[in-house]
Amino acid sequence: MSAKILDGRKVANLVKEQVQEDVEEWIDRGHRPPFLQVILVGHDPASATYIRAKTKACKKVGIETDTLQLPDTVSDKELKKIIKKYNNDDTVDGILVQLPLPAHLSSHSVIEAIDYRKDVDGFHPMNVGRLAVEEPTMRSCTPAGIMELLNYYSIPTKGQHAVVVGNSSIVGSPMSIMLSRENGANAGKSTTTICHQFTKDLTAHTIVADIIVVAVGQPNIIKGEMVKEGVVVIDVGFNRIADESGDEGYKLVGDCEFETVKEKASWITPVPGGVGPMTVAMLMKNTLLAAKGSIYP
Ligand code: NAP
Repeated sequence: MSAKILDGRKVANLVKEQVQEDVEEWIDRGHRPPFLQVILVGHDPASATYIRAKTKACKKVGIETDTLQLPDTVSDKELKKIIKKYNNDDTVDGILVQLPLPAHLSSHSVIEAIDYRKDVDGFHPMNVGRLAVEEPTMRSCTPAGIMELLNYYSIPTKGQHAVVVGNSSIVGSPMSIMLSRENGANAGKSTTTICHQFTKDLTAHTIVADIIVVAVGQPNIIKGEMVKEGVVVIDVGFNRIADESGDEGYKLVGDCEFETVKEKASWITPVPGGVGPMTVAMLMKNTLLAAKGSIYP
């Protein structure tokens, strides 16, 4: 078997086209365009690349945006003062603090300083908590994008065994909540196992999985011999590895050994072009929701 590709670029474009239409309708009804404030601390080149992709998408769908660049020496107090200013600014709908932050700043504490109604990444404890109790919420963009992708391709997850490899608070953990608790057209209500660095025998879990979502940040952590025939594989990993064959000196790979896993899987996401574009598209959706203020009672 050679896997079919879950085309994140195609589905992300469809999501963005819908957001663009909805933004136009919102403006036609007399509202100003939605506004996303991005905060970038330091000069991490990968973060700068992600922000470029996000601001480009904003422009495409009609969301206005600004990026505040802060030095990597900014104090916790100063950063939170700036966040508070945006929290109180009615012309700012969404606030995104690009992660990772320099080591002297606690990302949990900084995220918690954002008004949860403006937390378009869906990382605030209020939003994560509401997700866990199945209340309408700002859903974390990467797992929400994966649910969208599964729904688009009509991949049933109900009653299926989903194994999430990686348990971070921004990807693995909300992914496991969505897969196990949500009840979408196709995606949701799966029997969900979470694996992390203390999981004793990773293969014992992945080999019985109907669906694997891997979000670890280690190339080749999932290989063909670790999965069963017909599995659906969602590769969230985004790793730069040295590659002298191209101009850039590196290439981007996921967490799967793509060549061996695709021979056994029924569906697989490529890297790049799988989960990454979906994350950006869901950010657009969340920013419009924040502008409309329609999520919370
Ligand atoms: P993270 O915060 O570093 O979390 C990694 C997770 O992997 C942790 O839960 C860790 O376990 C677990 N882990 C580590 N070694 C393991 C092992 N040997 N077996 C099983 N689990 C193991 O990373 P993240 O922020 O979730 O990101 C993961 C990857 O996804 C990265 O490559 C990142 O760049 C990528 N990413 C992509 C997108 C996108 O839009 N495409 C978005 C976000 C992240 P513990 O919990 O026990 O430490």
